[in-house]
Amino acid sequence: MVRDTKFRMRSPDRESQCGQARLVVVGSKAVGKSALTVRYLTKRFIGEYQSDTDMIYRATMPVDGSKVSLELLDLSSNLDEVVVPRETMAWAEAWLVVYSITSRDSFRVAARAVEAVTGSCEGDSTSPSTAGTPVLLMANKKDLEHIRQVPESEGRRLADQYGCSFVEVSAAEMVSQVNDSIDGLLRQVSNQKGQTSPRLRKLSVSKMFNQLMNRNNQDKPSMARVSLRDRARKRGHLRQS
Ligand code: GDP
Ligand code: MG
Repeated sequence: MVRDTKFRMRSPDRESQCGQARLVVVGSKAVGKSALTVRYLTKRFIGEYQSDTDMIYRATMPVDGSKVSLELLDLSSNLDEVVVPRETMAWAEAWLVVYSITSRDSFRVAARAVEAVTGSCEGDSTSPSTAGTPVLLMANKKDLEHIRQVPESEGRRLADQYGCSFVEVSAAEMVSQVNDSIDGLLRQVSNQKGQTSPRLRKLSVSKMFNQLMNRNNQDKPSMARVSLRDRARKRGHLRQS
């Protein structure tokens, strides 16, 4: 599903002056990926969000006084695993990896995701390289301190280990922290643009969208998908539980 927010640019001339960024939000189910996405794009917190559909949002966001033309893919996921289509791995210019401070399981899933999207594909000829793509590890639901399961220090350590940014937020209660940290991620994309691989730019949004739509069609076995758990296991980083 593609959703254009009210921030979408209308003038092609102005659009060409924008920086661009393609951001993918991953993490296990119910950690607040959609809540954070909607909070960032609309500044609102609704409470309940459609959970079983991948959503692409297009919006133009002001970052540091200039405009960034953002495409944001909010990936639906299971409780215990994140599955990212290979095309999405190649398409992404930045990753927002989300877990909930109230769920140790979600932290484990986030750890696998961080490992994979920070360049675990090196030496894996079947997967697109994601090395060098900016990653923000976001610990959500900070307002639920009384049922916290993951100390802030663990999240920070994980981020440090893989060279990611890290922040603890609450989609429910912390508007500016959510905005500022995602703005920071877009800023990193803008700063990197000169070094972006031409191969990544070639994957058109319409092609990406068609591939995403095929993702749910079980009759299309040719659709390659990357299981972050399988990938981590393959590299020997994930212990069998
Ligand atoms: P997703 O499956 O990762 O997209 O998770 P959702 O965005 O659908 O959120 C799952 C549930 O957590 C919903 O009931 C949200 O209202 C709730 N939620 C999301 N963010 C927060 C937060 O920061 N604090 C609290 N207390 N609840 C949140
Ligand atoms: Mg969701």
